[in-house]
Amino acid sequence: MGPLRNAYLDALGIDRWVPRNSPPEVAAITQIAAAPSVAEARTNVPVSAPPATPSTWTPLPPTADWGVLRERVAGCTACDLCKTRTQTVFGVGATRAEWLVIGEAPGAEEDRQGEPFVGRAGQLLNAMLLAIGLPRETVFIANILKCRPPGNRDPKPDEVSKCLPYLSNQIALLKPKVMLAVGRIAAQNLLATDAPLARLRGKLHTFGEANTPLVVTYHPAYLLRTPSDKRKAWEDLKFARATYARLTGQAGS
Ligand code: URA
Repeated sequence: MGPLRNAYLDALGIDRWVPRNSPPEVAAITQIAAAPSVAEARTNVPVSAPPATPSTWTPLPPTADWGVLRERVAGCTACDLCKTRTQTVFGVGATRAEWLVIGEAPGAEEDRQGEPFVGRAGQLLNAMLLAIGLPRETVFIANILKCRPPGNRDPKPDEVSKCLPYLSNQIALLKPKVMLAVGRIAAQNLLATDAPLARLRGKLHTFGEANTPLVVTYHPAYLLRTPSDKRKAWEDLKFARATYARLTGQAGS
């Protein structure tokens, strides 16, 4: 493990436990332990009251312009989540990123800051990515939903169907080499299946007409609750890294 990665894990206040025979990468992921608990506020004050959701809604045709897409998302009133959000969470990262990480939906902190994965789960996601040589700023991170579901409940099918065209448009613009779906909600919605996460992990899937390779792993929030599954998550990450390396002829960072 490089000094940079070490410093990163230290910054998270992570206890180090390095099994004697573990390769450095396994050590990196097994060290990703829960950071000190931060109670997430569940209240939410919308900046302004958006207009009522239209009863019929059809997505606009995809745009080739990131700025236009960003504006469309920011002004979206397609579902009732627009009434409770503080702001939309478009996604973050370089528009030339080769990796696209997709989560479920913004939580309280993401709704406040307008950026995905900035809470405790985000810290763990950063460490997971870094463990396979991907600093956060080298990937693009987005969610199935652009708005926070109140109380962090699961997304409703109607919300997903209205929001997915934005993500599809992002994928079409980004043209990622590999997609990493974190958690059941992201995986099931991207793959249009209700198969459990356990059946979706460990396989190479593809997404969309471009057949973009898609790998499934656990959601970092789940891993914070169930650290014993971090080892399995590490297997998924190595699989994703190997997939990238095989497809691009590059080492993966
Ligand atoms: N969980 C998600 O799935 N996405 C976020 O942006 C934050 C937490």
